[in-house]
Amino acid sequence: MLVTKCPHTNRKHYAKNMCSSCYRKFGRKEYATKCEHTDRLNYSIGMCQTCYLADYHQVSTILIILIINTLLFLQRRTKVKRREKKEALKLAK
Ligand SMILES: [Zn+2]
Ligand SMILES: [Zn+2]
Repeated sequence: MLVTKCPHTNRKHYAKNMCSSCYRKFGRKEYATKCEHTDRLNYSIGMCQTCYLADYHQVSTILIILIINTLLFLQRRTKVKRREKKEALKLAK
């Protein structure tokens, strides 16, 4: 085993590819369980940082699409209403 997960690659390997001081600091941290990167540290809600951020962005993209669709729908509706008003005015004349 070699020290690869901490900057102290010249120190003696202790556990989980870290030197003893880094293992004590980081080694007992939780690892990601809800994504495929179980060798990475748990960033939030059981996912590694990459997957957590990707998931977050996915959610916000869906929200943005929903908002845009709603706005477009409302815009279309007001346009139709305006047209209806114009036609009603024409008929009234
Ligand atoms: Zn270290
Ligand atoms: Zn991941």
